[in-house]
Amino acid sequence: MSQLVSARIRTMAAKLGLPHLAESLNQYAQRADESKMGYLDFLDLVLAEELAVRDDRRFRQNLRLSKLPHHKTLDDYDFSFQPELDPRKIKDLATLSFVEAKANAALLGPPGVGKTHLAVALAVAACRAGFSIYFTSLDDMVRHLKAAEAAGRLTSKLRTYLRPSVLVVDEVGYQPLERAEANLVFQVISKRYEKGSIILTSNKTFSEWGQVFGDEVLATAILDRLLHHCDVISINGPSYRLKNRLTAIERETDAA
Ligand code: ADP
Ligand code: MG
Repeated sequence: MSQLVSARIRTMAAKLGLPHLAESLNQYAQRADESKMGYLDFLDLVLAEELAVRDDRRFRQNLRLSKLPHHKTLDDYDFSFQPELDPRKIKDLATLSFVEAKANAALLGPPGVGKTHLAVALAVAACRAGFSIYFTSLDDMVRHLKAAEAAGRLTSKLRTYLRPSVLVVDEVGYQPLERAEANLVFQVISKRYEKGSIILTSNKTFSEWGQVFGDEVLATAILDRLLHHCDVISINGPSYRLKNRLTAIERETDAA
């Protein structure tokens, strides 16, 4: 390929927003030569790679914006440690049809069973599929919304929690809320209703939400919208955190 043509292709690729093609032109030409690729196959290769690079860039950018505490996946989750949890339920969620349907998922159970792990894993999968994600604990969300309200910026702050395709609300129920705080949560839940997905984790059963939100009527209103389209996964098993601690303690005791 003449230098002139290469330079022109690079300029046009850059103008068209195809940076990968601009960078990899020589390798492409070489690969096409070596494997005696047909014209259509060559075009197919170039476009497919450009798309893959673009998807990957978007995935990494969305992951950065998501505020996820880590990026653990379903492959990192040991289902054999929670025999009462049917892996199929989680794998169904991982198809992300609930995200497409703008429905919700709730992961309930005591500490250490992997609620946050699974919520994050589903969020990472959704992120990879091109959905935008935002992760927050319920307490952080309430704190930020309260501060914004006090500063007269509630509408703009609410957008943080309304804009993403998937909002992960972690640790519902760790701290009881006051009525005004619960009201802010209601605003988020009702505004996202049938517009975007929520993945939430809680150590409380839904019947305890009246206490969490300090008001039975408000809790019912929140649950009504949340649960209308919601997969509920209850994980009632041992704590994985404790498993590691107990093995370590046993080892120390054996060594002594
Ligand atoms: P929870 O949110 O239910 O309190 P986490 O998701 O924070 O629990 O899990 C606690 C720790 O144990 C995390 O590091 C998590 O990755 C790990 N963990 C929990 N359950 C499992 C599991 N079944 N397989 C692998 N790691 C697990
Ligand atoms: Mg957790």
